[in-house]
Amino acid sequence: MRILFGLLLIILAPAPLVAQTTDGLRSQPFVFTHVTVIDATGASAKPDMTVVIIGDRITTLGKSRKVRVPANAQVVDATGKYLIPGLWDMHVHVFRNASQRPPNEYYFPLFIANGITGVRDMWTKLDKVAQVELWRKQFTERPGTVPRFGAVGTIVDGLPATWPNSDTVSTADEARRMVDTLKAGGVDFVKVYWNLSREAYFAIADQTKKQRIPFAGHVPISVSALEASDAGQRSIEHLDGISLACSTEEERLSKIKPSDLPPGKYQQQVFDTYDEQKCARLFSHFAKNSTWQVPTLSIFQRFNIDPNTLANDERLKYIPMAEREEWKRFITRLEKRTLEQNAQRRLQVAFKLIGGMRRAGVEFMAGTDLGNEYLYPGFSLHDELVLLVQAGLTSMEALQAATQNPAKFLGRLDSLGTIEKGKIADLVMLDANPLEDISNTRRINAVVVNGRYLPKEALQRMLAEVEATANRVKPR
Ligand SMILES: [Zn+2]
Repeated sequence: MRILFGLLLIILAPAPLVAQTTDGLRSQPFVFTHVTVIDATGASAKPDMTVVIIGDRITTLGKSRKVRVPANAQVVDATGKYLIPGLWDMHVHVFRNASQRPPNEYYFPLFIANGITGVRDMWTKLDKVAQVELWRKQFTERPGTVPRFGAVGTIVDGLPATWPNSDTVSTADEARRMVDTLKAGGVDFVKVYWNLSREAYFAIADQTKKQRIPFAGHVPISVSALEASDAGQRSIEHLDGISLACSTEEERLSKIKPSDLPPGKYQQQVFDTYDEQKCARLFSHFAKNSTWQVPTLSIFQRFNIDPNTLANDERLKYIPMAEREEWKRFITRLEKRTLEQNAQRRLQVAFKLIGGMRRAGVEFMAGTDLGNEYLYPGFSLHDELVLLVQAGLTSMEALQAATQNPAKFLGRLDSLGTIEKGKIADLVMLDANPLEDISNTRRINAVVVNGRYLPKEALQRMLAEVEATANRVKPR
């Protein structure tokens, strides 16, 4: 009887709304009509457009009065709505969360419900590469359940390691062997970190070139931001080392250990000796060398928020209970003001640096550093876009930092990052115009992942499910 009942359940299980081929792709065309397309190429908004999607691709794109809608298509009248490319968070740590809850149970649905269709993971250890490969398979087989893993890299630090459990190297030889091992192990890039020695860092720079794999990440304390750029570091995270490289006292300050001074003093000295011209020289190297910047302003912003506001954030309801408990330690440190003495100034300096780099033609990507306290999967990327606009980017530039630029950075602009004919359909439909107010990227009406349409109800269901499980204590 039980077997029969089980069989019945399988038979009665709700059939997918539309026909899916075996690889998860739709066979039925899907069409948005009368939508305003913001394609993220930099072109102005195009009103009253029709977008035809077949399988995972945008096959037709044109004025609604000119495009013929295929007879068997599923049509969504998108009058009054705005279509942007799927968003990318280019700095996440999906394997880092205090609750140990698997990312597919809450990170992924929160990404998708927030229109984040792609990520770059900044600490995928070699023993996690097989897991990422499974997720990449799942991405095409069950679109909408997992973001696109555009690139994954792993931390290589010096001694002592900043984080327990990171891979470390001291000598040039060790560094070269590490690069070979990581390349063979399947990561897409090497993430350099704070405590690397000069010889190890430059050996990584050289060996990654030989192995044809990029290196990106922090600027080690032993290396200047200018040297990192000239050595070919592909991206600098958190504006690392940049304000120091802009200081007239760079040489003296780079020899001091910040922890040897009273809290906040070191940073204050760096900021007080900021020199515009020195900055401009540095930025011209960034532009010439294509050194991308991922400022992760949301992580600086946390130090600026009143602890009470942080502790009462509405989005906490989506975070597993065990993790929420961990996060409280951040509040305690913030209240004791042991964390950050120059929070506001740090953000102001960051804005100034971003303004200068923008004028110099340096390119940016949006990233959050998700995996740290009070950063919310998916949600925080929208906060980052607002911060980038506050820093002086136009709404279009901020949008591009999360769409076109990541695709360009990853060498995937031929198929991703903008809304153009022939490209993969990773899309977000909004209720309001993000070019008028960038915070309108939060007003999500629907998401398309690899050609699969997820209407608002589906997204709300995903959010509700995450909320329901967040308070569940899971025995392990
Ligand atoms: Zn990070």
